[in-house]
Amino acid sequence: MNHTVGFIYAHPDDETFGCACLIREVADQGGKTVLLCATRGDAGKTGRLGPMSKSELAARREVELQKAGDIMGLSVIEHLGLPDGQLASYDRAFLADQIVSFINKHNPSVIVTFPEDGMSGHKDHIAIHHATNEAVFSGRCPSVQKLYYNAPFSARASNGKPPLQIEVSKHWPMKAKALLAHESQILSIERVFGDLKTIPNNGFGQYESFVLVWEKGVHHPEREDRSIFDRVE
Ligand SMILES: [Zn+2]
Repeated sequence: MNHTVGFIYAHPDDETFGCACLIREVADQGGKTVLLCATRGDAGKTGRLGPMSKSELAARREVELQKAGDIMGLSVIEHLGLPDGQLASYDRAFLADQIVSFINKHNPSVIVTFPEDGMSGHKDHIAIHHATNEAVFSGRCPSVQKLYYNAPFSARASNGKPPLQIEVSKHWPMKAKALLAHESQILSIERVFGDLKTIPNNGFGQYESFVLVWEKGVHHPEREDRSIFDRVE
């Protein structure tokens, strides 16, 4: 299997929260996984690490992301280094251009990004959602055959069917380790996933979900996928 999957996110840790298990499965199948992270997460909190300057936190989070990426099996991590918390103030075409450049450098067949509500409602997430749509739908990324939204666990595809789901329990020790690598973000991680010693007994412990929203020029295709590589040539 020689396909590449591109993950487009806003902050270091978004990828681990939403799709650590998918990244691991693609890597285990021999696929390449490439991540574009738009900010260095420098406006985030520092957890139990104590006060840090923005640049200290940015440097710290870059190291944490690399550590998590090694655990998940990310082949490539690239940073745009845009200011955390301010993505919505950028021109969407500018953000889309950055994403197009990243995609055309790595030629992924499949792209995964945030859903419409950014998963958590975060403005940076929503800005990346729109810019990724614009990049993929523009026709300027010829390698891309499918676009998925990393949906909440309860999501439904537009045809009413459940989205592609990956059971978190199959990969929990790996996912917990990757989450722990984002040490500065431990408080928000614990809020969502609990103490990480056991599989969370909320939806985050059940599935990572992915809704297919576009395939080879067709929006909301009436398809049911068992793998993100179904029908990918
Ligand atoms: Zn985020």
